[in-house]
Amino acid sequence: MRKILLSLGLVLCLLIAVLLVRTLSFSGASSELPEMVSVDVDEERVVQNMSRAIQIQTVSTGDPETQETAPFAEYVAWTRETYPEVHEQLGLELIAEHSMLFTWAGSNTDLKPILLTAHYDVVPIAPGSEGDWSYPPFSGTVTGGYVWGRGALDDKSGVIAMLEAVTLLIEQGFTPERTIYLSFGHDEEVGGNLGAKGITEHLRSQGVQLAWSLDEGSFVTDGVVPGIAKLMAPINVAEKGWANYDLVAHGPGGHSSMPEKEVAVDILAQALVKIRQNPMSGGIDGIGEEMIDGIAKEGGFVLRMLAANKWLFGGLLESQLGKSPSGNAMQRTTTAPTIVRAGVKVNVITPTAVATVNFRLHPRDTAADIVAHLTKVIDDERVEIKLHQDQEPSLASPVSSWENDAFALLKRVTQQVYGDVVVVPGITMGGTDTKHYSQIADDSYRFQYMVVNSEDLSGFHGTNERVAISNLVKGTAAYFLLIQQAGIE
Ligand SMILES: [Zn+2]
Repeated sequence: MRKILLSLGLVLCLLIAVLLVRTLSFSGASSELPEMVSVDVDEERVVQNMSRAIQIQTVSTGDPETQETAPFAEYVAWTRETYPEVHEQLGLELIAEHSMLFTWAGSNTDLKPILLTAHYDVVPIAPGSEGDWSYPPFSGTVTGGYVWGRGALDDKSGVIAMLEAVTLLIEQGFTPERTIYLSFGHDEEVGGNLGAKGITEHLRSQGVQLAWSLDEGSFVTDGVVPGIAKLMAPINVAEKGWANYDLVAHGPGGHSSMPEKEVAVDILAQALVKIRQNPMSGGIDGIGEEMIDGIAKEGGFVLRMLAANKWLFGGLLESQLGKSPSGNAMQRTTTAPTIVRAGVKVNVITPTAVATVNFRLHPRDTAADIVAHLTKVIDDERVEIKLHQDQEPSLASPVSSWENDAFALLKRVTQQVYGDVVVVPGITMGGTDTKHYSQIADDSYRFQYMVVNSEDLSGFHGTNERVAISNLVKGTAAYFLLIQQAGIE
């Protein structure tokens, strides 16, 4: 007995030793930080132009009946007037009437071009929420260190920062080695099927294949990741896809006074409970693993121990992370019932009940995987599974490299501008114009050189959208440095 206890104790000691050694050697202080670089950005000019950009109401409604075009023409004209150097030096092509493509021809045609892109259309103000804004949403009010209004973060700040950066480079006599395209889409918020798609086709027809592209899709975050004091920059290397399926439950109809044991609504309800309780399988691998490791190295002892010893704690880490909606979405294809339709009258049992379920596809899953999963989990022939309105699912994007020169450049510029930032690869949960551009790019990145906290993020498609003036200045500096260094990477 003593022998058994002794050997058990030894095994335990050994295990603890292994865990400790692995944990202690799992730290973030690895690569050296580049020196910070300051760029002489004209703060007054960039703020003024940002404010003016917000005032032009380029709202994408997604409905041809209500879609206005005049503000888009005005925005293009304003861009021409406000950035004459860019217009003169780079030339402007209009695609699908209102999307802008600038080409800055490089001196070395052996280098593949790159594309920097942002969009200038904005989402509407939610009806009834106008009065909740601290400043009118299209006023472009400048106060308290911010420029306020719809489009401040998403994504006119990207457009303005790029245009300011190029203006500054032209003023300093810079000419690029590598050809640089700038594109500013006018219909990103409704899918980019005219602008970004048109620009992609236009470039493809000229035989253009990009080394890489950079779009919106994430930010430098401040205090958004619990327990991490440093600034965090997830540079997103992929974006999720989407698919909508209708679950159509069939049951006996009739008068409500004598219901059968199970009717269509019951059958549908059970199916919904099943698919919500049995999500698509997922886990921390690929981008997710790289991201968690990067974060954990900066975190406390417990987080580091879990991440350093996934062979033992992987399951625990996944389930802990999966408790938050974002941690769950990072790991798997998500399942969200969004529309339910059934019945027309209080005393009539409907023979069919339909639920529309929105899935956001993780790069590891296909549409067929979803259907197979639903069929297995629902396991009920009375429930039909079919595409909602015949909409073809959009798969997740390819996953771009985070070990190449382009990622290293994006990372270096982040640290040149913001200092000690933890840079990790990440995945964009929503859609961006890059779903089009990535078709002609070796690698595609989604990241904006601006720092946001949780409060800033709530303005995204919401109320009180705003952008910090410091972000406009630093964002401009970042694009300046990026273009300056893009030729040599
Ligand atoms: Zn956007």
